[in-house]
Amino acid sequence: MISGFDRLLVLGLFTASAPAMAEQTGPALPVTLLLLLLLLLAVIYIVALKFRLWRALQPKPDMQGFYSLHDDVSGFPNKFALQRKLDELLKSAPEQNYALILLKVEQFDQINQLLGHSNSNLILAQIAQRINDKLADENKILTYEYRQQQPVRLCHLGSVDFAIWLDVGSQPARAEFLARQLQQSVPQPMLVHGCAIDYHLAAGISLYPEHGTQFSELLERAYLALQHFQWRRGEGLLFNPQMIHYTTEKLALMAELRQAIDENQLVLFVQPQMAMRNRQVLAGEVLIRWRHPKKGLLAPEAFLALAEEMGVIYPLTLWVLEQAIKSIASLTEQQLVSRIAVNISSKDLLQEELVEALEQLFAKYQVKPQLLMLEVSENALLAEPLRAMAMMQRLHRLGVELVLDDFGTGFSSLAYLRQLPIKYVKVDCSFISELHKTEAHVAITGAIIDMARNLGLGVIAEGVEGAEVEDKLLRMGCSRGQGFWYSQPFELTGFPAWLRQWQQRHPG
Ligand code: C2E
Ligand code: CA
Ligand code: CA
Repeated sequence: MISGFDRLLVLGLFTASAPAMAEQTGPALPVTLLLLLLLLLAVIYIVALKFRLWRALQPKPDMQGFYSLHDDVSGFPNKFALQRKLDELLKSAPEQNYALILLKVEQFDQINQLLGHSNSNLILAQIAQRINDKLADENKILTYEYRQQQPVRLCHLGSVDFAIWLDVGSQPARAEFLARQLQQSVPQPMLVHGCAIDYHLAAGISLYPEHGTQFSELLERAYLALQHFQWRRGEGLLFNPQMIHYTTEKLALMAELRQAIDENQLVLFVQPQMAMRNRQVLAGEVLIRWRHPKKGLLAPEAFLALAEEMGVIYPLTLWVLEQAIKSIASLTEQQLVSRIAVNISSKDLLQEELVEALEQLFAKYQVKPQLLMLEVSENALLAEPLRAMAMMQRLHRLGVELVLDDFGTGFSSLAYLRQLPIKYVKVDCSFISELHKTEAHVAITGAIIDMARNLGLGVIAEGVEGAEVEDKLLRMGCSRGQGFWYSQPFELTGFPAWLRQWQQRHPG
């Protein structure tokens, strides 16, 4: 069979020899020429055949073998390749100190949703390449192979997880340094279809032989360290043995909290807020509790931080807001007058949808936004002040009343306070409950009251526990109070009945 390549050769030879033949006149010459030509063709044909045979006998790249040691999405060495390399390395140099650095691409589900599976795989391969490029000058890292003279030093464990094996010598801190460098330099927003796509790298590190001598053990511990990094952003990346105990307990509580939300174990309490001079109820602050089947009634401190870490605080806040707005509607229906105050966490302030969600709730229950107060802790503004401030402006425009909670415990500067669209500052319990005993607290509370007056803000005192404190506050010019002196927090469902009774006992 003559291939296209052979046919071209034949055609080329014929066209090249045609004019020469036309010039020949004698009979013997054309025959010799033709014979020579045929001979030449036969030689070329045989050479082409041999070449094809030689090519067929060359070993083909073993694709199956390739993918048994490489990830099929990124083409980088996989877990088995790492395990295999480690078996060799730890046999030849077991006395060395190494670190296993684990990296996880965060926010990848967003990329997946936006771009679809196959496109996001391309992005993942690109991220892997970026990480590997950053390792090019780090010759203490385990190298798997070379591609176009570039070392391949990254292992793709699968999904969005990668690993690096580093010889740390006597400086284990080098592992953390490298991981932090990668966390900073690798994630650069990518522009895809005109959208800037953002991602982060979470990291966790375990050390050989300190944290284990088996690969599986080291991997497990690096994963634990990574999980802790995700829970408490910003702390160390290195595994420590306390994580094991902490994690089991926390994972159990997390699972229970999920169940608690589904099974309505969360309950709302309310604590009234008074005009201290005439004991008129101005508002009720909603306070969450967890009725735990085994541990009894749990205070918010026992589970709110966990809810924040689990990323369920916003749905939880929405639930609290709906209950609160529902109870405003029910109070209005019964011609009872009281605002309701809800605590919102710092993470809620960064949820762009919060304003829309509130608008919908106000419309659904036919409630005026002015009847809802939102209490934002002073410290909640610290993490991302500009975004938090923008959200507070939007909430203010919606009409809700904003309160700066736990005032005095944070670091608000006066200049900053001036720009916040708040109506009240709420002085923290820690200053108020001891007001009658501690002169320093009197001084601080006095200063806050003066400052608030100058800024045109109201002051609410929280933690009023007795007549003495109430009296002192009134004389200092603070007229709103909340605390055990008036009432302990009680179930929100009982608020209308409590209010009716209270109003009968304290008319006008
Ligand atoms: P907070 O906003 O400072 O709430 C006041 C806390 O002081 C409440 O604790 C209340 O029970 C307690 N308290 C009331 N009167 C007195 C008093 O006279 N003396 C003393 N020493 N304490 C008094 P609770 O209910 O344990 O709430 C603790 C914190 O949990 C709240 O502090 C608030 O920051 C947070 N929280 C409560 N419910 C929610 C919620 O639904 N969402 C969010 N994000 N946070 C909530
Ligand atoms: Ca509060
Ligand atoms: Ca407080």
